[in-house]
Amino acid sequence: MKVLKFGGTSVANAKNISQVKNIVASNGDTKIVVVVSALGGITDLLLTTANLASDQNKEYRTYLKEIEERHMQTIKELIPVQSQSKVLSKVKSELNILETLLEGAFLIGEITPKLSDKIVSFGELLSSYIISEYFASEKLDVGYQDSRELIKTNDNHGKAAVNFEMTNANCLAYFKDTPHTITVCAGFIASSVNGNSTTLGRGGSDFTAAIMAGALNAEVLEIWTDVSGMYTANPKIVKQAMAIPHISYEEAMELSHFGAKVLYPPTIQPVLSKGISIVIKNTFEPEAAGTLITKNQNEKGKTVRGISHVESIALLSLEGPGMVGIPGISKRFFEVLSNAGISVVLITQASSEHSICVGIASSDAKKAVAIVNEAFEYEISLGKIKPVILEEDLAIIALVGDNMKSHQGLSGKMFSTLGKNNVNIRVIAQGASERNISAVISKGDVKKALNALHEEFFEENIKQLNLFVMGVGNVGAKFLNQIQQQKKYLKEYLKLNIRVIGISNSRTMAFDENGISLKNWESVLAEGEKADSNKFFETINSLNYRNSIFVDNTASPAVSDSYTTYLRNSISVVTCNKIACSSDYNKYLELKQMARKYNSPFLFETNVGAGLPIIDTLKNLIASGDKVKKIQAVLSGSLNFVFNNFNDQTTFHDVVLQAQKEGYTEPDPKIDLSGIDVMRKILILARESGYQLDIEDIENQSFLPEESLATTNNDDFFASLVKHEASFQKIFKEASKKDCKLKYVAQFENGKASVGLQHIPKGHDFYNLEGSDNIVLFFTERYPNQPMIIKGAGAGAEVTASGIFADIIRIGNF
Ligand code: ADP
Ligand code: ASP
Ligand code: MG
Repeated sequence: MKVLKFGGTSVANAKNISQVKNIVASNGDTKIVVVVSALGGITDLLLTTANLASDQNKEYRTYLKEIEERHMQTIKELIPVQSQSKVLSKVKSELNILETLLEGAFLIGEITPKLSDKIVSFGELLSSYIISEYFASEKLDVGYQDSRELIKTNDNHGKAAVNFEMTNANCLAYFKDTPHTITVCAGFIASSVNGNSTTLGRGGSDFTAAIMAGALNAEVLEIWTDVSGMYTANPKIVKQAMAIPHISYEEAMELSHFGAKVLYPPTIQPVLSKGISIVIKNTFEPEAAGTLITKNQNEKGKTVRGISHVESIALLSLEGPGMVGIPGISKRFFEVLSNAGISVVLITQASSEHSICVGIASSDAKKAVAIVNEAFEYEISLGKIKPVILEEDLAIIALVGDNMKSHQGLSGKMFSTLGKNNVNIRVIAQGASERNISAVISKGDVKKALNALHEEFFEENIKQLNLFVMGVGNVGAKFLNQIQQQKKYLKEYLKLNIRVIGISNSRTMAFDENGISLKNWESVLAEGEKADSNKFFETINSLNYRNSIFVDNTASPAVSDSYTTYLRNSISVVTCNKIACSSDYNKYLELKQMARKYNSPFLFETNVGAGLPIIDTLKNLIASGDKVKKIQAVLSGSLNFVFNNFNDQTTFHDVVLQAQKEGYTEPDPKIDLSGIDVMRKILILARESGYQLDIEDIENQSFLPEESLATTNNDDFFASLVKHEASFQKIFKEASKKDCKLKYVAQFENGKASVGLQHIPKGHDFYNLEGSDNIVLFFTERYPNQPMIIKGAGAGAEVTASGIFADIIRIGNF
């Protein structure tokens, strides 16, 4: 004998039910009991309908209609026309009874738990009847049995307690004589000893199946659902979660108790004592192995088996000087809660006994506060105990595993992982069995915490980086291409999994939590919503992923103004935009401090020398105790390109235009030509060397005519270059007369910085700089005479993109 249970999604519609039939039929001649849930969503609908009716809201009729239509539609699609009318009329007459009950509730304006159970039981009654009739029409050898005649409970409506003695006897007696291979029964519903319909608690169809499996000593209990087993974490929240192949009863119970909804917690009990295995399988992927639940066979195996969480938790704390050393306070506290039917999910008590704190369901919070305050009214009036303190919007996350007890350091790892991700822990509890460690955190942090813990304990150290990219022009587009090309390599060799979740340009923005397809991000973005930088941030912040990185590929001052908001919310910032680091010194300092405080790296390697590792090298020199004495550098790829190509055969205008077209200049080329860009770069290098400097402190003798400097748009700027061609030719001739090349040099020495065009003679380190190359000479205490030299391509979209990429990888290895 086998017991198979099919959940709500598995029987949600005709198509799914026919899949259920295939699974059932594949059991051949083995005797089976098929326990079914209500059609997916119907239980919720019934409860809503009942509540509306009892509120005397006529809207309940619309819901009732929907319930009727769902069932009628399913019957019409499943059952051949010739046998349809019998089923339709039986279901219709049941629905009429339901309607009468609801009408009653509407008229009285009240619903008792007893009536609620009666109403809600229609979900499983109808689904089981329809499914058995469908099986019969498919020529399966099937019988139908009303579960209410088998499962007997007390009359605690909503979550009735089973009388196992009566129930087991009923099941044995019934199935001893059943002639059918397959028997279909309703899950969830039962009846009290005096014959009223009862229910076993939400999700209780699993329990029905387990009760029957236990009573009949079944060879196996199969739970067929919409996921391929019990996962290492809720697969809806942790995309990387995996089905656990084999797990112990105790681990499964603990996981389900702490929120793994795939199994209703009481389900284990009836099968555990008999040693009946449970298999969790996916109705929509029957070939997947699923999860096998048996007694513990993992003596030396994995420590952490799964991570669960329960949302909607509230904490109740009772504290006060009067609690110390006085026996019986805790007992009274728990008694009050238990008498009110409030179950305590988690308990902690400080060793001083000064306070005791329990986690309960949010829905019980108000009631709990009232009854506890009432119970301790006398002590509160004497000031011995404070009125109970309530904290809401919390959640519990729990690490579960039988073998956790024999391993040290797991809780340390758990808490440091949460800490690194700025998840604040309110309360910690460890079960006496040491099979679980739980922490109470803010509800808003659940997704981040689960993913971070999952990464730490299950993903072979693969780190997930979540990118939000603003600006997809020259640099941004190249950057996205590079990620696409390297994704596989990074995962395999650097154990980094990069996912671009959001992108935006100035017109539109798009998000995809599963990662935007980098093959066609252009069309995804084009179809996105209207760009809005505040909303961009809000979305990232509310997604609340760990390792979130905001990538700024723009040159926009407004975007750079938003960095503090990102960093403050633990979102790292990687930018090629120089504005933030070269603005007011205090602003620069604030960003650096924030990055440290909130554990969110702020990296801007591409601010100087595009992809060249200039800032990173400087940081390493300083971190290892070196001191910068002098910096000499050619830092403008754009000016280099311009002066390497400009001669008496070309015009200055044409060369600048070419530089702009090839992506060697800022969108506004005047920023490069005026020397501002170089000033910003030397400023950043000086600051990174530990000097406090502002842009006004830098000397700049610009070679541009006043008129060009005064222009306010690109067209006027280019026109002025044409007009002043003669002055540019003069600059060229003066240098070539001395056999010198023109280089725009930045210098920092004795705390002073300057930039300007210089004549560079043959033999100088700067003379042979090609194309858009950059060069930096660091003279330090360790490199006093022969400087450390970094040289290479210092401009261009491709190398800038690769510099941003390198920053992302730095964060990955952080
Ligand atoms: P059914 O209707 O088949 O009883 P449920 O909705 O009750 O199905 O349970 C299955 C759901 O449980 C999954 O779709 C998943 O969202 C949720 N779930 C939560 N935690 C886990 C977990 N650790 N493993 C698998 N599923 C989980
Ligand atoms: N239909 C019931 C519910 O939704 C029982 C179940 O599906 O397990 O809670
Ligand atoms: Mg369920």
